[in-house]
Amino acid sequence: MSISNAPVPVFDGHNDTLLRLMNDRSGQAFERFFVGGEPGHIDAVTAIAGGLFGGLFAIFPPSRNGLSLSDAMSVAPYRLPFPDTPDLADATASTLEMVSILLRLEAVSNGALRVCRSVADIDAARSAGALAAVLHIEGAEAIDADLHALDVLHAAGLRSIGPVWSRPNIFGRGVPMAFPSSPDVGPGLTEAGLRLVRRCNALRIVVDVSHLNEKGFDDVARHSDAPLVATHCNAHALSAHSRNLTDRQLGLVRDSGGVVGLNFATAFLREDGQMSEETGLDVMLRHLDHLLLRLGEDGVALGSDFDGAMIPREIGSAAGLPKLIAVMEAGGYGADLIEKIAWRNWMSVLRRTWGA
Ligand code: ZN
Repeated sequence: MSISNAPVPVFDGHNDTLLRLMNDRSGQAFERFFVGGEPGHIDAVTAIAGGLFGGLFAIFPPSRNGLSLSDAMSVAPYRLPFPDTPDLADATASTLEMVSILLRLEAVSNGALRVCRSVADIDAARSAGALAAVLHIEGAEAIDADLHALDVLHAAGLRSIGPVWSRPNIFGRGVPMAFPSSPDVGPGLTEAGLRLVRRCNALRIVVDVSHLNEKGFDDVARHSDAPLVATHCNAHALSAHSRNLTDRQLGLVRDSGGVVGLNFATAFLREDGQMSEETGLDVMLRHLDHLLLRLGEDGVALGSDFDGAMIPREIGSAAGLPKLIAVMEAGGYGADLIEKIAWRNWMSVLRRTWGA
């Protein structure tokens, strides 16, 4: 393949691949990750095929009564109750298991995957042709109110944290899975939540506002000294789901020099809020257009939700990323803008948050 046919490089703001690997009880999850042909969205083979050179790998502590979102959200309107919030012991066990999975994956990868703790690490991984994996937490239930676990996880490589998933915890309140719905539901961050934000600032860990309710978002906007980052959210003006950001919120992200990653989850893309694989890619372009209008060219990125959501069939897996790039090209986006959305804006905001 000639250079000109190589896919546009992509750095992605959100995947749930570690959860998929944890739930894979075949005993061959690691081997299959590198050989490919898996039912999931990301493995070493689909990543290379799609130009995916790295991303934020989420650790998501599951709820005990987690119901199937794909069934519950296939017909709108819907309003799902909060699932159980895992207690500290459960969340610690699953969080440590997923950290361990990523570290072991790196260890057996023969250099094909690297856990990255800085932008320099990401650059070096990319140059070496290795998949650059950044540890991220989605739902901080494994972190105690005194934040001791935060220090330990940071030492293990944690560089980004979403304090809540779509459920309440000691730090704040997520939005329920509901359509149509406003993100303005429930109270803001708790005292512990505010301490978490300040400690993340001190450690230079990204605070991800995805899944937070609006008052919690505003608390982060007020108290964090870092650019606002939503790793995987879309425009509420186009899909009235509480998981998406209103124009007012997008304005605050822009004012902070922050970034929003386009979520490929069909329920957060579609005007009707349905989760359906039969969703055309034109709707992704409409969200990108809207995000560009509100955030500017430096504020828009990608946050696929690969391995954690029902995405358009046409994309299918990380190997389908060039189809989204082609849609941007057909929509009149120039090469520079596409590079910003595909990876440069992530590098910029990570550098500004983490330091050089
Ligand atoms: Zn999520």
